Amino acid sequence: MQITGLATAVVEGNFDWTYVRLYTDEGFTGTGECFLAPGLTAICRELTPILLGEDPRDVDRLFRKLQWSTSGAGSVAGIIYNAISGIEAALWDLTGKAAGLPIHRMLGGKFRSRVRMYADCHAGEGLEALTSVMLTRAPSWLSESERQGHVSRSYWATGGSDAPTAEDYARRARQIAALGYTALKFDLDVPNPHQIDEYNHGITNNEVNYMVGLVRAVREAVGDGIDLAFDCHWRYTVADVLKVAYGVEPYNLLWLEDPTPPENTDALLRVTQATRTPICTGENLQLRQGFRALVQSGAAHVISPDLQKCGGLLEGKRIAEMADLHYIPVAPHNISSPIGTMAAAHVCAAIPNFLALEFHAHGVPFWQDLAVGHEGPIIDQGYITVPDRPGLGIELNEEIARKYARPGEPFFAEV
Ligand code: MG
Repeated sequence: MQITGLATAVVEGNFDWTYVRLYTDEGFTGTGECFLAPGLTAICRELTPILLGEDPRDVDRLFRKLQWSTSGAGSVAGIIYNAISGIEAALWDLTGKAAGLPIHRMLGGKFRSRVRMYADCHAGEGLEALTSVMLTRAPSWLSESERQGHVSRSYWATGGSDAPTAEDYARRARQIAALGYTALKFDLDVPNPHQIDEYNHGITNNEVNYMVGLVRAVREAVGDGIDLAFDCHWRYTVADVLKVAYGVEPYNLLWLEDPTPPENTDALLRVTQATRTPICTGENLQLRQGFRALVQSGAAHVISPDLQKCGGLLEGKRIAEMADLHYIPVAPHNISSPIGTMAAAHVCAAIPNFLALEFHAHGVPFWQDLAVGHEGPIIDQGYITVPDRPGLGIELNEEIARKYARPGEPFFAEV
């Protein structure tokens, strides 16, 4: 079997859901999803000559061939791996279809048939839709009233006027927990009405009190039986974020995510060693090389590789195995459509130290409709049942995908 072509498409969900599809001379195709990045589909398409004529079932060798071909552009990290991760997932989908095996079977088989999902509740009521450079946008699927008056702004800007209240968080927590989820996550950093400087990594006492109040409200809303995580998006100094970590210790979190900037494992270790609140990080790291210092130092209690950018499904399993040597559980970050989410679910089924997989698209009305080949809801009562059908086990619904395709992007151009 030989690869004969590669094509891409982008759907405007709450993020740019970026697809890469591989074609073969035997009629099999494979589809993978990449984590968004500016210029990403052009990168994917430029990689086509590296793959043409190759047997798609040599997945690991082709992964390394793609790495070498782009080593000058990003040998250990960067958006090259967003592209390679999507292509690698497409190779597994293709290989599984050709072999008649589901992806999890090719990764060593299942530890579990049902994958526990946690719901990202963002910042209370609003579902933010973001471009590839983190500007807010009003996509076509929002209601007219939601679109009206929308002004694009930076996700990172200092906020205040539209800051959620503790009651907003509590209400959202009760709503989502009622859907059957056993774990929820909220943003703890944006937008804080008391923030006075968006660049200095500081947290004032008023901000600390506001943040601890949000956590208390969610815990009181859902009780002790629901796991709770809160995300800080790499914003803070060690000393200041520890005030937050200490303040939320009574609420027994599943984890506090990304308390300090992502590039400094030593700083993160100082946070981790000083608080009883478990610390999670990893969504911006690539490859085992990227996770090695983090895992070996014990700077994270939980790691959160993103399978659409960490290097692919097999690399994700290898990262999990490395973490398992240190008894560190894995809770993959995930903001993808059903295609990427299901690919991640196959990995989650095939690793021993799985904790929970993120779902970030509550409020995107067509998320479920983007998949065909799956009976009933993909996420049911907070779990995904991993399909035993060949490959990914679902296909992209092209009619729905085309309807919400990003303007100006190719849509699986004929090859
Ligand atoms: Mg996060």
